Amino acid sequence: MTLRALAWFLFLLCSTCATNAFDRERANPTRSALPHYAVSAQGLQRIELGSGMGVLVDSSRLLTPEQVAATDQPWRAITQPSPNFGFTPDAHWFRFELHNLDATPLTRYVELPIPFIDDVRLYHYVDGQLRQSYTLGDERPFAERVFQNQNFVMPLTLAPGRNLVLMRLASSGTIEAPLRVWDPVQFQQSNDHEKLVQGVVAGVLLVMIVYNLFVFFATRDRSYLYYIGFVASYLLFHFTLTGYTFAYVWPQAVRWNSVAISTFMAGSILFSSLFASHFLRLKEFSRGASVLMRAFSVGGALLVALSLVAPYNVTVRLGAALTFPAALAALTLGYWRWWRGAEFARFYCLAWTAALAGLGVLNASKFGVIDTNFWTGNAHQIGVVLLVVLLSFTLADRINHERKLRMTAQARALAHEQQARASQQALIAAKDQANQELEQRVQDRTRDLNQTLEQLQVANERLQRLSTTDGLTQISNRAFFDQALVAETRRALRLKTGLSLIMFDIDHFKEINDRHGHQGGDACLRALTDLIRTRIHREGDVLARYGGEEFVVLLINTPAAAAADLAEVFRADIEALQSSFDNQQIRFTASFGVASSPAGHFFTPQDLLSRADQALYQAKNEGRNCVRVAASV
Ligand code: GH3
Ligand code: MG
Ligand code: MG
Repeated sequence: MTLRALAWFLFLLCSTCATNAFDRERANPTRSALPHYAVSAQGLQRIELGSGMGVLVDSSRLLTPEQVAATDQPWRAITQPSPNFGFTPDAHWFRFELHNLDATPLTRYVELPIPFIDDVRLYHYVDGQLRQSYTLGDERPFAERVFQNQNFVMPLTLAPGRNLVLMRLASSGTIEAPLRVWDPVQFQQSNDHEKLVQGVVAGVLLVMIVYNLFVFFATRDRSYLYYIGFVASYLLFHFTLTGYTFAYVWPQAVRWNSVAISTFMAGSILFSSLFASHFLRLKEFSRGASVLMRAFSVGGALLVALSLVAPYNVTVRLGAALTFPAALAALTLGYWRWWRGAEFARFYCLAWTAALAGLGVLNASKFGVIDTNFWTGNAHQIGVVLLVVLLSFTLADRINHERKLRMTAQARALAHEQQARASQQALIAAKDQANQELEQRVQDRTRDLNQTLEQLQVANERLQRLSTTDGLTQISNRAFFDQALVAETRRALRLKTGLSLIMFDIDHFKEINDRHGHQGGDACLRALTDLIRTRIHREGDVLARYGGEEFVVLLINTPAAAAADLAEVFRADIEALQSSFDNQQIRFTASFGVASSPAGHFFTPQDLLSRADQALYQAKNEGRNCVRVAASV
């Protein structure tokens, strides 16, 4: 999880082994002469003390430097290049000799780069005389340090010849003693370099925090908050572990500084578990995985609270114990998720793998498997930067991934909509066509209907004509005449005009039939009507066959005298008519009765008809072939 914590956890494992080995050896102690380190202005600029030192364990924690210097107790030679004694309540004494080869005093710095040791003391002897002593440790305010540095740095003025140095370390945490002796100039350069690297790490981490905070405000995705929580916790954990926060952030807060490592380690566990859980969407993936990660985050949260109240040496051990399985679970679940098709998990896996690779390289160089150079020495910082940057990239990648999914969904929805619109248009087109066809059909039907109506009208007219026309003579029949008489009588009364009626009958027609046959009689009837029809010019006048060989002529707006004159014209014409049938000349005459109703007089159709009939009867009685006019009423 937290890289440094993980590294640390591994160190703890190693130190446990080392301590055990030490315990076994102590059971059979041998007093050995300790090697010494030669120093001079031209000599080595940096000496890693490590295996050149002797160590003495003071379980009572009460021994004074004088007692230690004079002790008979055997000093054990250290064999590790980077001594680590793990968690131990014992005070540890270290001794080493520096031989100044020069004739003048020489300034050298002793550095202990483990800033979280509670109590650090140094005693410098020359010829059995105490020359210098320092009392340091992270339980004292930072300002008390003689040399203001994140690590414990103690300047020594080495007298020419042998200089004995005793150091006492005691701590509630682990005791590690990777001690170094520096040329001051060289120290300054190395320290500048170290600060530059740590500054870059801090800068990158802070930028990522700020950047992702902005992204969180924009997206409101909780993964960003967890990420920020993790990076911030890790940043503070790392810089507390390396002493920078005590040097620059809370130099007075001694009590807080002693628990801060536990607090931020627990915070890192808490937020990285929450991040893994939320980012990998474990809840919807696997119940077991989700519960496991939730357990780690709950554990981290409890430990944050506990770190503020419980002793440091308890909470730091719990934190270290929780770190490794939590990191393993976060990484394994990432790969599992990726393997099961969650493509967005790939950068997540890459990030943690890079961090672990950095840790691996760091340890490999620490244990001498590979050479130490800039890259391997800073592998863990590089790993952390990669972790933080890649995790941020992971978040961006997921947003991109989700945006792509959203765009695909949108494109699909758009395609569906277009399809729906096309179907709708096709439907509208089909409806239009159906409407047009319907309209066309209605028009066709209407035309057919109109044609039928016209035909019907023609047929009706024809029927009408037939029903009002006499078949033999093709003039109006009696039915038509009766209607016309009623209608013209009303009109005459209304308009106060005169109305006249001529009624005439062929004389002795029976004899014509007898002589020329019935067809001869018919020919006479046709000849007569053809003749009389030509004599009637006024529209509204009606010529009709009243029965057998009897005819009527209704004359509208005509006075009696004019009607009588016209009857006389008819009579003369008929008398002069020579009709022929079967190559024989047939001549005949007709008798006429005329009746009139003067304008403004009331009368009925029956009146007019019967008066005309009586006049005709009179004409027959008075010799035939003459016109008789009924007396006016
Ligand atoms: P009158 O001078 O008194 O009128 O004597 P008439 O012979 O003309 O009259 P009557 O009533 O005695 O005879 C009419 C005859 O007309 C009888 C009938 O056979 C004949 N007739 C009636 N309708 C037709 C017809 O449509 N065609 C022919 N050829 N003869 C008809
Ligand atoms: Mg007659
Ligand atoms: Mg007659």
